[in-house]
Amino acid sequence: MDTSAQSVVVISLHNAVGVFQGKEQELGRLDAAAGDGDHGTTMVRGLMAASAAVDSLLEALVETGGDCPPGELLIVAGDAFADAAGGASGALFGGLLTTVGRKLPVDDVSPTAVCAALQAGTAMVAKLGKAAPGDKTLLDALAPFVADFGAAVEQGKGTAVAWHAALPAAVTGAAATAEMVAKRGRASRLGERSLGHVDPGAQSVVYLLTTFDAVLQAHCV
Ligand code: ADP
Ligand code: MG
Repeated sequence: MDTSAQSVVVISLHNAVGVFQGKEQELGRLDAAAGDGDHGTTMVRGLMAASAAVDSLLEALVETGGDCPPGELLIVAGDAFADAAGGASGALFGGLLTTVGRKLPVDDVSPTAVCAALQAGTAMVAKLGKAAPGDKTLLDALAPFVADFGAAVEQGKGTAVAWHAALPAAVTGAAATAEMVAKRGRASRLGERSLGHVDPGAQSVVYLLTTFDAVLQAHCV
């Protein structure tokens, strides 16, 4: 990522709104299986607010001629997401975006810096949610992705290549949640009855990372 890092964030958030509108019912059904069925609408509401907040910020900057680093965009997006979405995933996905944004240095969007920011975001989700891998949460898709992303970066891969290489880990991680009993969040109240369904938050991580991946491949290779 270089000067286009800002574009990657803006375009990905825009695209994510459309992607999640298309997945809204599916995510709702997954959440209805073990939770309250609102996950799809929550994600769409949060992403619409995040995208709109980023647009407003950029419009204001055009008027003043200012610039905005990608980390700042992610902070604004995450705060707007959390405010608009509400619920567990509002705080978790919003906090994830905000934490990644805070950790991303203003003048460094190198693969190593992106990796450190993603690791900080993952740690924040684990801490806020009191969740560990295996608890059947969004962490079960996010943590393996970040681990594989880090391994690819250590091998010298760029952000776009490493991101693409790590995506299957998120897909596999999300699929594996079907065999897990929920230990966190609303679904944990169901105990064994949460077995057999993919965790909606983990599936959302897959859709979000895939949306960013498409933009990264188009802009950064
Ligand atoms: P709510 O549970 O408030 O209705 P959503 O339905 O939008 O929120 O999101 C549910 C998803 O949030 C779950 O599928 C799970 O991935 C994630 N989640 C819920 N609680 C936690 C937690 N304590 N730690 C990590 N992730 C969690
Ligand atoms: Mg729910």
